[in-house]
Amino acid sequence: MMEEIVFESTHPIYVEVLSSRASRNITLRVQLRKKDTIRMRVPRNTTRDDILAIARTNESWIRDQLEKLPPLVVPTHGESIHYQGIRCRIVPGSVPGVRIDGKVLEVGCKAAEVPREIKQFLIGKAAGYMKPVVYGCARELGREVREVRFRDPVSIWGSCSRAGRVTLSWRLAMAPPYVQRAVAIHEACHLAEMNHGRRFYSLLRKFCPGYRAADRWDSDFGRTLQRYDFGDR
Ligand SMILES: [Zn+2]
Repeated sequence: MMEEIVFESTHPIYVEVLSSRASRNITLRVQLRKKDTIRMRVPRNTTRDDILAIARTNESWIRDQLEKLPPLVVPTHGESIHYQGIRCRIVPGSVPGVRIDGKVLEVGCKAAEVPREIKQFLIGKAAGYMKPVVYGCARELGREVREVRFRDPVSIWGSCSRAGRVTLSWRLAMAPPYVQRAVAIHEACHLAEMNHGRRFYSLLRKFCPGYRAADRWDSDFGRTLQRYDFGDR
């Protein structure tokens, strides 16, 4: 069950309450895709008064976490967006579609459709770059890929199923190519090793010696990529 309550003192904090029989403890987590929103997971019998009391008790921690988040950006004309690790200005384009010119992203469509148009562009670019990396790595590992698909998960960049289905975030098209490559190889290595054990890391080091640099990029900028609001959530 999900309920939204607004907790107001200086400026409003939105609390999404998720109550379930399975939760024994109370957990708080900032919502990357929403403005000033925290998700509180509580045991089913928690009352509204309890929830407000918890929010109040933790208010300074919550505000601190929310303030640390990169700003939520709707990528439209006049704004900037990351593309392959470079911040690009979004300007109206004279022809339909998206064109990249240095640090400028020209988007030719109605203003209201710009975020969607950019999203489609990013999906295409992510697939164009990362799919061959996954297939190439799988070939060297002697494993079969059933499918590479692009989705929009909030808290992970990719996953790999036992059936050989690799799922990657199309938001990675906003990250530098070495980061895209590292994530694609990471998931491809799971085709051979489903865990994060020693054998997995020796494969990852072999195919992607610079994977730690990608981890560092992720810890510095990963949340920024999640804060672009393409209007579909
Ligand atoms: Zn993994």
